[in-house]
Amino acid sequence: MKNLIILGAGTAGTIMANKLNGLLDRNKWRITIIDQSKEHYYQPGFLFIPFGIYQKKHVVKPAHKFFPAGINAINSSVKLIEAEKNRILLENDSVLQYDFLIIATGARIAPEQTEGLKESLWYKEIFDFYTLDGALHLTEYFKKWRGGRIVINIAEMPIKCPVAPLEFAFLADWYFTKKGIRDKTDIHFVTPLSGAFTKPIASKAFGNLLDKKNIKLTTDFSIGRVDNQEKKIISWEEQEIPFDVLITIPTNMGDDVIGRSGLGDELNFVPTDRHTLCSEKFNNIFVLGDATNLPSSKAGSVAHFQAEILTENLIDAIGQRPMKAKFDGHANCYIESGFGKGFLIDFNYDTEPLPGKFPLPAVGPFSLLEETKMNHYGKMMFRWIYWNILLKGYRIPIIESHMSMAGKKKKTALEL
Ligand SMILES: Cc1cc2nc3c(=O)[nH]c(=O)nc-3n(C[C@H](O)[C@H](O)[C@H](O)COP(=O)(O)OP(=O)(O)OC[C@H]3O[C@@H](n4cnc5c(N)ncnc54)[C@H](O)[C@@H]3O)c2cc1C
Repeated sequence: MKNLIILGAGTAGTIMANKLNGLLDRNKWRITIIDQSKEHYYQPGFLFIPFGIYQKKHVVKPAHKFFPAGINAINSSVKLIEAEKNRILLENDSVLQYDFLIIATGARIAPEQTEGLKESLWYKEIFDFYTLDGALHLTEYFKKWRGGRIVINIAEMPIKCPVAPLEFAFLADWYFTKKGIRDKTDIHFVTPLSGAFTKPIASKAFGNLLDKKNIKLTTDFSIGRVDNQEKKIISWEEQEIPFDVLITIPTNMGDDVIGRSGLGDELNFVPTDRHTLCSEKFNNIFVLGDATNLPSSKAGSVAHFQAEILTENLIDAIGQRPMKAKFDGHANCYIESGFGKGFLIDFNYDTEPLPGKFPLPAVGPFSLLEETKMNHYGKMMFRWIYWNILLKGYRIPIIESHMSMAGKKKKTALEL
């Protein structure tokens, strides 16, 4: 028997297990999937929890429910990847040999990277919403909120779902308006970027919306430390921003096992070929999802598009043929903007988000870079699609893994 190991059973690993299950000859190949967690989290849902839209039950399910029958599933943490020896070491020191390895260990928040972030105010007046625990603590805090200064701060890029902090700001505006205390609540969006978002056209559109919603924007702010006594964040340039509650998006890092195994960059992300998704160092290791060092978004939709490319390439690599499929950096993200509306952006390595219609040119029904009710329905539908289509490795009809220019209008940031 030959061995294919998938390390990580989050979005990317689970999709790959389902895609490969029907393609590899099970008399010749054993597929093993390993994860330290028995639960699968729908992370996009964490955003909605502090605002009472979702609860824990909407975002957690048993991981095994999504594994294909006959797969060898191991519930353990992985201690070490010994890539030179084609083997991995589990928590209990047992050794697993592989012919091919897929790394899908994702990204985690690392608040310990910023001085003062995880100290006396942690989960009292400083919260994250990138973990279920953080989102649940924040829910309780917001129930008692009567007004004050909310600071939303991105520590550094890259982060998973780079639009989620903006969505949080827009939803906070909606939530406190609905509660009748928006006039007593200052919302301040503080980012290390030079605009509201990474790409110029989208950055202009979201910057305008922040302005319209009376959300203050501070750009080029690189957090150096948090003063827990005075309740302020302080940049490396000594700029100070006071808060009553700090919503932090801490530094995001790849898992420690990547660093321990000597496979990562300084943030433990794995150097990966941007088109084939093969590790830059080892030709029998593939990487996808948030674990890569690629400049594509760290998003579930990206993991889904990558999985289609990786499936083709892995089958070619196993058959010792040249890998033909090329990932183009395609990302597709709904952005909740409050009051039952939302945006949609669709882009890749070379093309930034543009206005237009998606997925059908002229018809839509979704509008790109435009705030519509239909885009909000798309965002809310995504949870069902995630559990029932995406994780099971099915193709989503009409939506291709490569980005299409059909329906997109070329505009400049100045025209918006
Ligand atoms: C608040 C928030 C909002 C988001 N919104 C969106 C959105 O609207 N749209 C979108 O497309 N994406 C969104 N995302 C991003 C999306 O959830 C991730 O990009 C996606 O889950 C990445 O999949 P992954 O498989 O790479 O990582 P994960 O799904 O995080 O899976 C990694 C898995 O690896 C396991 N693992 C790690 N290290 C080890 C180890 N040493 N041993 C064993 N197991 C290990 C973990 O337990 C985990 O199960 C959002 C994320 C957050 C946090």
